[in-house]
Amino acid sequence: MNLFKIETTDFSFNLLQVIYLVGSVSFMVGLKMLSKPESARKGNLIAAFGMIIAIFGTIFLYGNDSGDEGVEIDKTINYLCIVGGIIVGTIIGAMMAKKVKMTGMPQMVSFFNGMGGACAMIISLVEFDKLLERINSPGGNFKIMFEGFESDMTDLGIIFLGLIIGGISFAGSMVAFGKLEEKLKDITLPGQQFINIGLLISILTISGFATAGYIENPNVVFLVLALSLLYGVLFVFPIGGADMPVVISLLNSFTGVAAAMGGFLYGNKVMLIGGILVGSAGTLLTVVMCKAMNRSLLNVLIGNFGGGSKGESKEITGSIKEITKSDAAVLMKYSKKVVIVPGYGLAVAQAQHVCHELEQILEDEGVEVKYAIHPVAGRMPGHMNVLLAESNVSYDKLIEMDEINPEFKTTDVVLIVGANDVVNPAAKNDPASPIFGMPILDVEDAAHTIVMKRSMKAGYAGIENELFYKPKNSMLFGDAKKTLADLVSELKSLG
Ligand code: NDP
Repeated sequence: MNLFKIETTDFSFNLLQVIYLVGSVSFMVGLKMLSKPESARKGNLIAAFGMIIAIFGTIFLYGNDSGDEGVEIDKTINYLCIVGGIIVGTIIGAMMAKKVKMTGMPQMVSFFNGMGGACAMIISLVEFDKLLERINSPGGNFKIMFEGFESDMTDLGIIFLGLIIGGISFAGSMVAFGKLEEKLKDITLPGQQFINIGLLISILTISGFATAGYIENPNVVFLVLALSLLYGVLFVFPIGGADMPVVISLLNSFTGVAAAMGGFLYGNKVMLIGGILVGSAGTLLTVVMCKAMNRSLLNVLIGNFGGGSKGESKEITGSIKEITKSDAAVLMKYSKKVVIVPGYGLAVAQAQHVCHELEQILEDEGVEVKYAIHPVAGRMPGHMNVLLAESNVSYDKLIEMDEINPEFKTTDVVLIVGANDVVNPAAKNDPASPIFGMPILDVEDAAHTIVMKRSMKAGYAGIENELFYKPKNSMLFGDAKKTLADLVSELKSLG
């Protein structure tokens, strides 16, 4: 008896539908729970459970209903390929996840997202081939095959959408990966916006005509794929300044939509629902981030983002002044209110635990301490929330930008730990700056600011920060973890 020969039954079909229903509900519950740090870990596990049952249900039950009752289907080759793929993918994924540092997470997310896009792209290519085989009966040609075949036309439209969105998502995510790894620089071509708009229009027109049967050559699918890949590359390459988070979120939503197209093609409800959830959650996040960054969604799509710099940047005058750790400790100890601004450097230094310790010591001294959270601080949406939650900072101490900004006026000391772009006043007062227009934390309104970083080097946007030269600011140079630990010791010794 061959173990891999399965009998087709109504039972396996019905069971699969139940599994898909449970899987889909798990995705929704998981997603809902991800919106709060306390429940996020559990939510992730619930969604992962939904994904596991959906995968195994599909492997063992999908297609078993396709024949007559009692017909045996030999799936040996399918199982060998799938198990092989799962083993290789699991090993690579587990190794990457184990090796990755917290600060490398955005690159990994971008890479995995790109793989999702590539999958959608490949599914479309395979399904296109099948569609050709199915309809292109002897003597038929590409044009004839669509005439009178409405459902195949719909399939072809979906195949093109999956191909286009998957291709853009794959190519764009790979460029984003390279940029976050600092292996690729921003490149803007002359007339970039027009090239991008032209490409987008060409892709949509060609695939639209092909779907309607006006283009006869089946190779049109490769033309659309090539143009989509090119568009993905060109639309992410120029994006710089501080705008990458919005693009990453947008690409993520693209992959979701591309996966949903696969769900349509296979009539697979869990794939469809999963894809729609990723697509809609990603789109909502993109819109929220666009708002937070004061950018327009249209500009993201045509790749005219962050490149808003016109003319020469403002010259920075003034001089920097340093503060010693003991002076900084005294200043904070005798303050009424201290606001900590965490940034990417806090994540690099893994200084979240010692930062929490500093906060507790100050609170024991009667100082009110809060954290100011900028929407794009760090290198991924929610980076600072995740980091600080990891060190058990109470969630009600994490105050979003809009809420904390009016509070800086009544703050004695703002301690900026490894943050740079999110407190750069150029966003408000230098129209030539690539971050101009992006809302920032108004730390200048406080009585004192202390910037903790290792050098005068720029942040992600690669631009100077005039805050460092302001009379009310002092620099406290050094690695964030070591400096915070020294501040904790100083505060303890002050008694
Ligand atoms: P920035 O990248 O602007 O600045 C981080 C600063 O941390 C650097 O200037 C660096 O200075 C300092 N630093 C690095 N390592 C250490 C260390 N070990 N100890 C102390 N300081 C250190 O960070 P922000 O959080 O202010 O801003 C985030 C930027 O990243 C924004 O431009 C944002 O748009 C962008 N971005 C955000 C994403 C997101 O989703 N949140 C995704 C992609 C990009 P020095 O080298 O001198 O120490």
